[in-house]
Amino acid sequence: MTTAPLDPTHRFAERALRGEAPSETECLEILDGPDVALLPLLHAAFIPRERHFGRKVMVHILNNVQNGLCPEDCGYCSQSRDSEAAIRKYAMKSDEEILAEAEHAARAGATRYCMVLSGRGPTIERTKKLAGIIRTVKDRYPMEVCLSAGLLEEEHARILAAAGLDRFNHNLNTSESHYEKICTTHTYADRVRTLQAAKKCGIEPCSGLIVGMGEESRDVVEVAFRLRELEVPSIPVNFLIPIEGNPVVDDGTLTPERCLRVLAMMRLVNPTAEIRVAGGREGHLRALGALALWPANSLFVEGYLTTRGDTEDATYRMIRDAGFEVDGNSLYEEAEASAPGKTRFRLAGGEGEILKPDIRRDA
Ligand code: SF4
Repeated sequence: MTTAPLDPTHRFAERALRGEAPSETECLEILDGPDVALLPLLHAAFIPRERHFGRKVMVHILNNVQNGLCPEDCGYCSQSRDSEAAIRKYAMKSDEEILAEAEHAARAGATRYCMVLSGRGPTIERTKKLAGIIRTVKDRYPMEVCLSAGLLEEEHARILAAAGLDRFNHNLNTSESHYEKICTTHTYADRVRTLQAAKKCGIEPCSGLIVGMGEESRDVVEVAFRLRELEVPSIPVNFLIPIEGNPVVDDGTLTPERCLRVLAMMRLVNPTAEIRVAGGREGHLRALGALALWPANSLFVEGYLTTRGDTEDATYRMIRDAGFEVDGNSLYEEAEASAPGKTRFRLAGGEGEILKPDIRRDA
């Protein structure tokens, strides 16, 4: 009797379980090679995902606490000084508004509440104000709290750490060599230093990338390895959302399969990290959205900073239908236990409108 040979992608899973990454050449094959079939690749990425996170999907809800008015020139961002996108600009929301939105996020099942502020970085005074809000949210709601507020020095990080901040986000976004085509007002080194400052003060760094900004596959591989080297435990993988008026526009490379290959490569290079299928999920993955859950164990619901996304209902249905489990929070789980029934038959259109209008016999 002969034993069927293992699919070649199985070697990636075995190595990921030992904490070893594929080589850079293998990563390029994963992204572009016609010899690496998509479904076996997703299965290989699922094996370390399942080992470290089971079938759970962590849910993040963003609060765009301050929008626009930014002096920086990140080309992908509709809040930058160079963007002509038609967005509403506003200074920092009131504490009451931020806390009301935190309550909404908790009730909607967020594992993490992510507050995001536009701008180069917070002053000490602003940092102390944010620290007060973080303390209150953590006291009131059973959610982790994340913050993205630009560049950070150790002095700021210490204040945020003392308030109990769980994570600080600052994306590397792309490779060092591609970076100057995307942003010139702060450097790659500034970004790395921010992540190191957070980590040194005991805050988990969160950092990821944006794919589809004119980079090559080797840039995507480079940033995956840079995140591994920095031991980043939370990696949002964004797919550029084309916003009219932004300097950096969709480069036309993103197909659902490309997005899935990027997620799988990111999982295999960073097997223990929380890999998040982030901005652009709905628009770029489209009908293949649920397949992202094989490599990724985390996502956003209710949209992104300046663009809409799927609602919590639609997203949770996708998670359950694919055989995964929402890893929400205790407040949400209590509500779920008292009102089950999320697996109902559904069609587009109003409740009870199953018959086509031209078939229905009018009463
Ligand atoms: S990403 Fe942040 S720093 Fe860059 S332009 Fe947008 S708001 Fe400003």
